[in-house]
Amino acid sequence: MPTLEIRALSAAYGPVRSLRGIDLDVPPGTITAVLGGNGAGKTTLLRAVSRTLGFHGGTATGTVRFDRLPLERLRPDRIVAAGIVQVPEGRQVFARMTVADNLRAGALGAPRGRRAAAQALGRVHELFPVLARRAHQSAGLLSGGEQQMLAMGRALMADPRLLLLDEPSLGLAPLMAQRIADTVREINASGTSVLLVEQNASIALRLAATAYVLEVGEVTLHGPADELAASDEVRRRYLGVV
Ligand code: ATP
Repeated sequence: MPTLEIRALSAAYGPVRSLRGIDLDVPPGTITAVLGGNGAGKTTLLRAVSRTLGFHGGTATGTVRFDRLPLERLRPDRIVAAGIVQVPEGRQVFARMTVADNLRAGALGAPRGRRAAAQALGRVHELFPVLARRAHQSAGLLSGGEQQMLAMGRALMADPRLLLLDEPSLGLAPLMAQRIADTVREINASGTSVLLVEQNASIALRLAATAYVLEVGEVTLHGPADELAASDEVRRRYLGVV
């Protein structure tokens, strides 16, 4: 029984169809990756799961279940309360707020006791010590990599069971991208399932157990990540091997 089960998911922004008949599973406790080029529909897929598609003028049909709970009729805040949190592409931290206040904002979606929030904060500081050191600085002063850490830390404050990560390595230097990847592995090792959307196929295929290739809104390949990494088509199109 997968943690996340997507069936026959189609999505559109007005007349622009972005996803067609997607079937995708995230097995419990795993990292599942979605690869694809610009405009393939990766972000739309995450928005359909987090139910934020409407904020962007989009609509979806099909079913999405999380531990058997149908998500189609839930409001985005109920999705967070159910344990699914999305880290948007481009970080989108609150630049004028302090690092500490950004993290506090992440806890709002999942109202629990102060003790749980303090525990979550301790865990975030363990994963990202820089966020403790720079707690009182404006988030806008952080580097791109640090902002990615803050965006992930903010999501973790809601104690998600499933983390939706949209291009966490985008625009980062290779060393920083690797650090972020290591942290994704660590977060997963402590029990959080991850649906990871990435243009950087080599990072994604190293992290994930299973991967899907999305092309113009359709799944064209899926399987164990090591098999995909060995396939000629993926090597040629996504890993730059000629
Ligand atoms: P990228 O990595 O470039 O973000 P992506 O794989 O995440 O690509 P999506 O952002 O999901 O792709 O976009 C899929 C399609 O939907 C594209 O054709 C895009 O132009 C279109 N699209 C995305 N957002 C909107 C929107 N708010 N309104 C209209 N069309 C949109």
